[in-house]
Amino acid sequence: MASKIARPLLALVATPVLAALLVGAGTQGGAATPGAPGAGDPYFPNSGNGGIHVVHYGLDLDYTPTTKNLVATADLTVTATQKLSSFNLDLSGLTVDSVRIDGRRVAFSRAGNELTVTPSRALDKGRRFHVVVTYSGVPAHVYDPDGSPDGWIIQPDDSVFVASEPQGAMTWFPSNSHPSDKSTYDVEVTVPDGWTAVSNGRLRDRRSRDGKTTFAWRESQPMAAYLATASIGRFQTEQYTTRSGLPVYNAVAPSQAAAAKPVLDQLPAVIEFESRLFGRYPFDAAGSIVQDAPDVGYALETQTRPIYDRAPRLDTLVHETAHQWFGDSVTLTKWQDIWLNEGFATYAEWLWDAEHGGPSTAQKFATDYALPETDALWSFPAGDPGDGGHIFGKPPYARGAMVLEKLRQTVGDRDFFAILRAWASEHRYGHADSAAFIALSKHISGKNLDAMFATWLYGRGKPATP
Ligand SMILES: [Zn+2]
Repeated sequence: MASKIARPLLALVATPVLAALLVGAGTQGGAATPGAPGAGDPYFPNSGNGGIHVVHYGLDLDYTPTTKNLVATADLTVTATQKLSSFNLDLSGLTVDSVRIDGRRVAFSRAGNELTVTPSRALDKGRRFHVVVTYSGVPAHVYDPDGSPDGWIIQPDDSVFVASEPQGAMTWFPSNSHPSDKSTYDVEVTVPDGWTAVSNGRLRDRRSRDGKTTFAWRESQPMAAYLATASIGRFQTEQYTTRSGLPVYNAVAPSQAAAAKPVLDQLPAVIEFESRLFGRYPFDAAGSIVQDAPDVGYALETQTRPIYDRAPRLDTLVHETAHQWFGDSVTLTKWQDIWLNEGFATYAEWLWDAEHGGPSTAQKFATDYALPETDALWSFPAGDPGDGGHIFGKPPYARGAMVLEKLRQTVGDRDFFAILRAWASEHRYGHADSAAFIALSKHISGKNLDAMFATWLYGRGKPATP
């Protein structure tokens, strides 16, 4: 995510760790227990769920921009990771009409943002099943602890900006909405003729019938729910294939087209530059969604096809493209480690600038280090934001990039870029955390880096020496 508009912090509502989180942990064979209502992340305790892994989402969305009404079916292929008497999905608002497991209607209930599904018979650990949820209504975005809108964000011109970091996926589909679970996706969106719906991955099919057009998208690599999109607008679209054979699909709001074009045209060069530094581009599609949504206040690295709230600047495009390696392909297990996304994407901007006539990364580091102790840069450690209201604050971005520059200066260029490439390849399509990054850095460099990371990643305040 980039360029979040600063907003006053809202107080975080403390959510007690539910006793149910503990129930079912370590259950072997024996009794079936309810899946936990959260994935166990202290920053967002109710995001995600316990006891299930969603292998695949098949989303079928029919949206009418003038009425804002969504009529949808979500077909989830799920594996039980414990013996389940019931399990939860995350869903905010909307009306659930029915829930079926392997074709049979089952009981369900709603409470807050939790949809609890109770099968007629327990689901054994390891069992794979389909849960099909039919639902409808006018989706409403949520506000994150830092005050920014998140999810299905309807615009004054009836277009829809869909970006879901960290918790907005639940505003438009029943989901296991925590980055620790990744899934493949088929997203089909039907809109009135003249509108375009854009999701992740490749456009598989586009068909018109009775005044409506269906866009069928497929993301065939694992994706966290927060990186899914189904943005809708009266877009100008453009499709081409890069020299390296990558299909690009751009969708741009007409009001932004002239300003966006010179920046979007740089995408193949940015992908080539970053592939040289980080290893091969991880996905089979690319592109951009540019909307006219100035009140949103941010861009997001939606997988394969980042979304921008206005014509992006080149540094923002460089940032969101770098996230395809760092965040999208290699994904967090907990939100505390957000610097692994934002510090890396910010450092990619530094690298691009240095290569294109700007200051060196060492100069950027020195400029940031010169900021006074009172600057927001030093307000909390990059590796420990403390709560969900601070994950998009300044330290995970700028100080996260400083951690990487410090690492580079400590281990040298050869080992530093070997670390970045090994990080992207060893964890491609998977998950990793800060401890794994520190271990990899030590392994490749052969150096003890504990003090460096303790100071720059986890230390409070401004380090005494640069
Ligand atoms: Zn970012």
